[in-house]
Amino acid sequence: MTKRIALRGDLLDFTAEPDWGVTESPAVRFRPDHWLLIEDGRIAAVQAEAPGDDWPREDHAGRLILPGFIDTHVHSPQLDVIGSYGSELLDWLNTYTFPAERRYADPELAASGAALFLAALLAHGTTAAVVFPTVHKVSADALFAGAAERGMRLIAGKVLMDRHAPDGLRDDVVQAEADCRELIARWHGRDRLAYAVTVRFAPTSTPAQLAMAGRLCAEDPTLYLQTHVAENRDEVRWVRELFPEARSYLDVYARAGLLHARSVLAHGIWLDDADRAALRESGAQIAHSPSSNLFLGSGLFDWRAAEAAGAAVTLASDVGGGTSLSMLRTMADAYKVQAMAHQRLTAWKALHASTRGAAQALSLGHEIGSLEPGHAADLCVWDWAAGPVAQQRMAVARGLHEKVFAWLTLGDERCLVTSIVNGAVRYQR
Ligand SMILES: [Zn+2]
Repeated sequence: MTKRIALRGDLLDFTAEPDWGVTESPAVRFRPDHWLLIEDGRIAAVQAEAPGDDWPREDHAGRLILPGFIDTHVHSPQLDVIGSYGSELLDWLNTYTFPAERRYADPELAASGAALFLAALLAHGTTAAVVFPTVHKVSADALFAGAAERGMRLIAGKVLMDRHAPDGLRDDVVQAEADCRELIARWHGRDRLAYAVTVRFAPTSTPAQLAMAGRLCAEDPTLYLQTHVAENRDEVRWVRELFPEARSYLDVYARAGLLHARSVLAHGIWLDDADRAALRESGAQIAHSPSSNLFLGSGLFDWRAAEAAGAAVTLASDVGGGTSLSMLRTMADAYKVQAMAHQRLTAWKALHASTRGAAQALSLGHEIGSLEPGHAADLCVWDWAAGPVAQQRMAVARGLHEKVFAWLTLGDERCLVTSIVNGAVRYQR
């Protein structure tokens, strides 16, 4: 039996990449008061006229319908440390994050933590994500199983870390490789899941472990790679001491075979021109995490320089360094980071990087990120405003960019009405 539903609302997505500073962009596709038809988990059609009587309907007239957000860098076990006071990256890891992650060795806690995390993503309008669980195999199993249950597009992998981490959070090269291979066989390509070889960051892996990670990537080019790079100046100094042979922090990964078209590198604040060229040549993307960068005092990412050099940039919450799973909050922070460098991030650039741009950077542009017939029906219905202040702002907004920019600046998860994943309602306010 086919499963059908037709949604009515104001449809907003992109057909190309918007340019910097352009508020009237031909890349924006706004279809007010349209119907989006979903059949068997896929978008079947988008049309101005109401569908026939054989279509069950949900009328969201006056509401915004967007592709589900794609968060390209987030840590599932870190809901326990979100909003932790008073430290920069390396202290923050030791004081808050590592103790919280150690608890994920327990399969029951890993399962309940994954369920909480995935439900929270959906309650913030994020339907796909690139996720770090912990070093424990069970934490990756729990996360994949939870995502499969919800039909979600999820990219994740057991975290590799065999040094400079406390007891209970270190693996070794042999066991880690066996765990990765087992997890890849079990999850990679199953349902909507994909495996990412997951190096926490260069300081917590020995050269032998980085080489093992590189071998896994070389063996199967459909695997993703996720890690952190050049987030914090003390971290960058430490990497220089640990890897004196490398030209730069990014070069540590390049030398190990970890820089390729499916590499997702969080932060990339302290990069130089040669690094940016290496990003372009490899096709690797930077997962820009503005909330985390501000909260931990890591630095201000130069989005325009990365893009001018031809590197792909996507947006990420980086919870728990970031302080919200909301991609609206993330976009608003990204705007402020660019404003500090006298650049203006349009609503279109920000939204594109959280939807179509992220999908394309992940080689998933054929499946998610746009309201396109044939794509998976991963989408969210939003109110334009929550509360009297935003309502008043919307009432006087002129033009679409002004309205959408005010929406993402003033809005948050209170605006979310429904999240639909693969055609199924997975969150309802
Ligand atoms: Zn992170």
